[in-house]
This record gives sequence, structure tokens and C-alpha cells, in this order.
Amino acid sequence: MQCKCGNELPEEFRFCPACGKPAPKPQNPVPRIADELEIKQVDPMLSPVEAARLLKISRWKLDELRIQKKLPPNCYVIISGKKKKTIRYRAKELLNWAGTVEGPLTTAG
Ligand SMILES: [Zn+2]
Repeated sequence: MQCKCGNELPEEFRFCPACGKPAPKPQNPVPRIADELEIKQVDPMLSPVEAARLLKISRWKLDELRIQKKLPPNCYVIISGKKKKTIRYRAKELLNWAGTVEGPLTTAG
């Protein structure tokens, strides 16, 4: 999303920090909730923040589940960069896995 002044704005910003004007409304809102993702039957690669939001758990909990190998390896992809590793989660696999977990995820582990 880009402000009229040219400043690149994160989606959640309501105002541009550079010029103070209200942020433009996104033309094509990214699907945020599980239902929408399932209806579209897409398999988007989610950032850890988005994946955690999808599962309604904290980002740290998601990390923990992955590190403890409770999260199936097909649920995520690790992209090795020069300086750091980037992790992307597969929405469809995550939702399938979440459906098999007994009890709320927040108390797992
Ligand atoms: Zn601006």
C-alpha cells in the first residue's frame, strides 16, 4: 500500500507517518480469516505473524510448536538467506493440521 506522498505503508497503518494523511483503503484486501482461505482453496505462503493470526495463537507459540517439532514439516518452508532464515507457513497445511490437534492450541506443549 502506498500513500499519495509515495511513502510505502504497512497494511495496518491508518495514517501515513511521513505526511500524516489518512492511509488509502486497500483495493484488494488480503484474506485474513481461515474461512476465506478455505473457500478460495489457495495455498498462500504466510509470514509467521499471519500464520499465528490464522491459528489464533501467538507468534512465539507458533515458533515453539515448530522448534519442538509438533508442527508437521510440510506446514512450513525455511528459506535460507545470506544473513538470516525466513520462514513461510503454508496456510492450507496449517489449517489441516490445526484441525487434527485435540484441544486448544494455546494450551498445547
Ligand atoms: Zn504520506
